[in-house]
Amino acid sequence: MSRHDENLHAAIPALLYEISRPGRRATRISAVAAREEVPETALPQALIRSEDEQPKLPEVSELDAVRHFTLLSQTNMSIDTNFYPLGSCTMKYNPKVNEVAAAVPGFANHHPLAPEWASQGSLAVMYRLQEMLAEIGGFSGVSLEPAAGAQGEFTGNLIIRAYHQSRGDAGRRKILVPDSAHGTNPASVSMAGYEAVEIPSDSNGNIDLGALKAACGDDVAGLMVTNPNTLGLFEEHLVQVTRAVHECGGLVYGDGANLNAILGIVRPGDLGIDLMHFNLHKTFSTPHGGGGPGAGPVGARADLVEFLPGPIVVRADPAAIADANRDQSTYRFHMPAHSIGRLKAFHGNFGVLLRAYVYISMHGAAGMRSISENAVLNANYLKKLVDPVFPVRFKRTCMHEFVANGAVHDGIATMDVAKRLLDYGFHAPTVYFPLIVKEALMIEPTESENRETLDAFAHALSEIAREATENPDLLHHAPHTTPLSRLDEVQAVRKLVLRYEHRQDERT
Ligand SMILES: *Cc1c(COP(=O)(O)O)cnc(C)c1O
Repeated sequence: MSRHDENLHAAIPALLYEISRPGRRATRISAVAAREEVPETALPQALIRSEDEQPKLPEVSELDAVRHFTLLSQTNMSIDTNFYPLGSCTMKYNPKVNEVAAAVPGFANHHPLAPEWASQGSLAVMYRLQEMLAEIGGFSGVSLEPAAGAQGEFTGNLIIRAYHQSRGDAGRRKILVPDSAHGTNPASVSMAGYEAVEIPSDSNGNIDLGALKAACGDDVAGLMVTNPNTLGLFEEHLVQVTRAVHECGGLVYGDGANLNAILGIVRPGDLGIDLMHFNLHKTFSTPHGGGGPGAGPVGARADLVEFLPGPIVVRADPAAIADANRDQSTYRFHMPAHSIGRLKAFHGNFGVLLRAYVYISMHGAAGMRSISENAVLNANYLKKLVDPVFPVRFKRTCMHEFVANGAVHDGIATMDVAKRLLDYGFHAPTVYFPLIVKEALMIEPTESENRETLDAFAHALSEIAREATENPDLLHHAPHTTPLSRLDEVQAVRKLVLRYEHRQDERT
């Protein structure tokens, strides 16, 4: 089956089933060699599949299989192949040393049900990561359990509820959420049984302090806040904001997705944030999205630590360990006294935690700060280049990202610009988010990229702006070089085709 739509389009690799031919095989271990090591044993008749029950697997040579999967991997954009300025997602380079550590057999093959005394190395990594994140965020304790930022938000809302209940304060039903927030914020609020109340932004892109104060009251359980916010702007009145919420008895949850802008510079805990998640797959360079599972550890101020999901790892008192006849384990699992419970099987996504631990250790404290300084520098450099072509919405100095308007040419939408960027070899920025900027083009270069890449990306945007006036159809029908052009993205997500329907005629 040929799937070339136009000459320019790269081909989609054929499905393995389509190139299957009866009898083709990859390498097989010689039957003789196998027999010498392992004696052949007859399978019980009941366990042997009949001819009808044989799995309908494709039959291909080893080379067919290698080419198929290699080509398939190349039909995607990835951080290892392309600049990926997907705003809010912090698509930084994932250093290969993380993978080396994660592949160390003592970690990779360690069983999650192994006893504590046999898991001291893994527990030490978890303990130290908890400590590092607590220090970076300005918190007293951290739970590594949540599997993603969104689950961290849900955790935070459950802790807010548990906190108010523990004080016999049952009348608080509302959580305040700024209108620039990520969609997961109001969703997490609803999932925890609260009502999300939207707070508008002011003309400088900050939370509207007056509107916030007006919304505060004894029915408010808390506020969810992202700093820098999703416009890439530091919340200039954050201390007044958190104070106002505390004064009415609420707690402040920090959405830590944008931590990459402030590492080692300011600690969210010092700004009045009581609880916050860390997106290890954003800030701390672990694989993101289709690349693997994530992790959204949650940090808490001192009086909220006992509500954290568990188990968390604690370090035993050395005096107690020295005590004769005791289990000599230094690190132990501990369920916080008023824990909201477990959120994840076993101990969170350990392989992800390990990668983040390596990343933070490799950089050290001074390195943390330089990550953010370079992320902010790169964003401001690129902002200067992009603004004349696609005007940036707020002209203030940005943090690690900025939001431009992609629809400044007649008949051209942000989506057309984003799709055309693929033809230039760049993954598109985030589009149509945050919702409060029309036709948003949200660009986050990260600290990983060099000046030449940023220049090349800005140049591509200028070229696209020229094309938008000279040949708008080029943009309307972009991308022209990818295996498939415009997909119905809503349907593509809702109706994933994950199963191959085998038809008898295809194998003959
Ligand atoms: C990515 C992101 C989230 C959600 O985090 P996940 O780890 O993807 O669940 C929440 N808020 C903001 C601002 C984000 O960018």
